[in-house]
Amino acid sequence: MGNVAGFRKIVHLDLDAFFCAVEELHDATLRHKPFAVGGSPEHRGVVASCSYAARKFGIRSAMAMARAVRLCPELIIVHHHFRNYMALSDQVIDIMNNYSPIVQPISIDEAFIDLSHQVEDGLYYAKKLQIEIKTQLGLPASLGVASNKLVAKVATNIGKAASHTDDYPNAIQVVPPGEEAAFLAPLPVDALWGVGPKTAEKLAELGMHTIGDVAAYPERELERRFGQIGGDLHRRAQGIDNSPVHVSHETKSVSHEETFSQDTNNERQLREVIRSHSQSISRRLRKLNLYGSTVKLKLRWPDFTTITRQNSLTEPTDDARQIEKMAVEIFKKHWKIGRKVRLLGVGVSALGPPGHQLILWDWNPRDAEKQERLQSAIQALRARYGEASVGKASALKVSR
Ligand SMILES: [Mg+2]
Repeated sequence: MGNVAGFRKIVHLDLDAFFCAVEELHDATLRHKPFAVGGSPEHRGVVASCSYAARKFGIRSAMAMARAVRLCPELIIVHHHFRNYMALSDQVIDIMNNYSPIVQPISIDEAFIDLSHQVEDGLYYAKKLQIEIKTQLGLPASLGVASNKLVAKVATNIGKAASHTDDYPNAIQVVPPGEEAAFLAPLPVDALWGVGPKTAEKLAELGMHTIGDVAAYPERELERRFGQIGGDLHRRAQGIDNSPVHVSHETKSVSHEETFSQDTNNERQLREVIRSHSQSISRRLRKLNLYGSTVKLKLRWPDFTTITRQNSLTEPTDDARQIEKMAVEIFKKHWKIGRKVRLLGVGVSALGPPGHQLILWDWNPRDAEKQERLQSAIQALRARYGEASVGKASALKVSR
C-alpha cells in the first residue's frame, strides 16, 4: 500500500527498557533476570529503568530502589553507564535518518520520524527500523504508526501494554488513517497528551472516563470549563494533531566530503571528486525520495582554513548532473588555478519532498489548518462543479 492522500505517515519509536537492554549487551548474565538500573537503596536511589522480569514483581521506573528491593529481594541493582546510553541513542537516530531527514528525538530513548514523502506505508518502515536497530545495535524497540504524532505515541504505548511476554515487547501498533478517533475512544482519558491526574479527575467528575467520552462531549462546554485547553482536549480526543515532526538543523542536508591523501591542485582530479560526490548525494536523495534546493561547496586549503559557499538552484532537484553543475560553478568562482586543496565537500540542503519544500519545512499547525480548510473548500467545489473547475488559481477565476 502506498500513500493515502492527505494523511501523513508518522512513526513513533520507543526503545524497550533502554538502559537495561544496553546493560544486557555488556553483561549477558543479566538476561531474563529481574534487575534494575539506578541508585542503591542505601542512598535513597531511584529505579531509572527495570527489566521486564523485574516488572512482574510490580517494579516500575521512578520507584524508590528501597521499595523495589522489598518487592523483589533478589533484584540485581546495576549502576548506570550514561555515556553508553548516549552513544547508542545517537546511533539509533542515525539509523532513523537513513529513512528520512525528518527525525525528532524527544528523549534519550524516544523519537518521531515523518515518512510522509516515502513510497511505502508506515508499517513497512516501522518493521525495517525495528529489525535494523535489533541487528545493528542489539536493541529491542517498539513502534507506533499513525497519521500524526499524538496517535503514533499512544499506539506505541498500547502496543507495549498489549504484549504479554516476560521479555521485551518489540511491539508494532498501526492505526490506519481515518481510524484515529475509533482507536482512541475506548482508552482512559489520561492516555491523552496533556491529561494529568488533576485533569483526569475533573473529567471524571463530569462523567468522562474514556477518550471517547471526551470526544462526544460538547466542545463549547469543554472550553467553558477548561478554557483554551478544553478545545485542545476535544481535538486530541478526536485523534487530531497537526503538530509537525521538528527537525534538528543538521539533518536538513545531505553531503559528502573527502580529505585527499595528498593536497592536490590537479583540476581534473578535483572536478572528478565533485562529480563523484554529486552522484553519491543524488543516490542518497533518491533513496530518501527528497529534492534539494541549495548546493554547497566546501574547500579546505593546506593551512586548514575552510570556506563553505552555497548557491540556490532555480528548481529543487535530486539529479546528479544538476548538483554537479552548480558545485562546479561555485568551485570555479573560489578556486584559482594552482591552488592546492586539502579537502573538498559537496552538500545539498533545503530538502523536501518533490514540490513540497516550503509547505513541509514551514509547517505550523495554523498553516496546516488553513491548508485543510483550503482542501475541503476545493473538494466542495469539485463535488459541485466537477474536476475541471479547480486547477490553478487562474483557472478558478475563469470558472467564477
Ligand atoms: Mg523506552
